[in-house]
Amino acid sequence: MLCRVKNLSVTYRGQETPALRDLDLPIRVGERLAIIGESGSGKSTFARALAGLLPDGAEMEGRVHWTGSAAPRAGRDLGYVLQDPSASLNPVLTIGEQVAEGARRHLGLSWPEARARALDMLERVHLPEPKKLLDAYPHQLSGGQRQRVAIAAALAARPGLLIADEPTSALDMVVQAEIVALLDELVRAAGMTLVFITHDIALAAGFADRVAIFKDGGLVETGPAAAVLAAPHATYTKQLVASHRDLASTPLVGEIGA
Ligand code: ADP
Ligand code: MG
Repeated sequence: MLCRVKNLSVTYRGQETPALRDLDLPIRVGERLAIIGESGSGKSTFARALAGLLPDGAEMEGRVHWTGSAAPRAGRDLGYVLQDPSASLNPVLTIGEQVAEGARRHLGLSWPEARARALDMLERVHLPEPKKLLDAYPHQLSGGQRQRVAIAAALAARPGLLIADEPTSALDMVVQAEIVALLDELVRAAGMTLVFITHDIALAAGFADRVAIFKDGGLVETGPAAAVLAAPHATYTKQLVASHRDLASTPLVGEIGA
């Protein structure tokens, strides 16, 4: 067990209804957990609470019990990738500086060592001409390439946990699939735990070990991805799955041959 989220509720300042309500969820070491829910269901709030990055004024009840260690520190033990890579990259720093920074600060590397680590990371995320890229700036890259850089930066300090909050929502379909495949590959290779947040149940179905369905700040249902998607219990999950009928393992009668 990596951590156990216990009775977690979060209410933002000035809001009457909580953004998260009484959430209970274990996260296991090395699993790929997909948090699925529509916009406003509390997914990002959950990610921020997990990362200890809730804004001032957000009131939190309950807690996250981290097994065997103190809460992970964002940037070091925990990597965070957001929807918009431009938001996490600094436009006036080179790609090399940004990817090296986490490694320098958290692994105690010198700048030359950290630059070598950055080069290694750019290779791992399959960016073309990584050596050249070290001295490039974010605006010189495509959206998909920027997201690869953001992933390289998030993983540079070798965190055990990666939280990816809709990391592909701003990208076109082909690039989305490439980024998901990349995350899958990196997480497997490093034995990392991945919390993958998405509103797209089909995207999650492709690679998650376990899913957690959120609605209106509450946890509707959780379980192994294959089981939940093949035989959902909650009415809401049934609706979600039905809206992506291609997810069902057996075709519906009448569709065969259609
Ligand atoms: P999701 O990521 O699933 O779209 P969020 O966690 O961002 O959902 O939001 C959950 C609820 O909390 C929404 O009603 C949203 O408007 C509200 N909310 C999110 N961030 C803030 C904030 N900083 N201040 C006030 N309300 C917020
Ligand atoms: Mg969100």
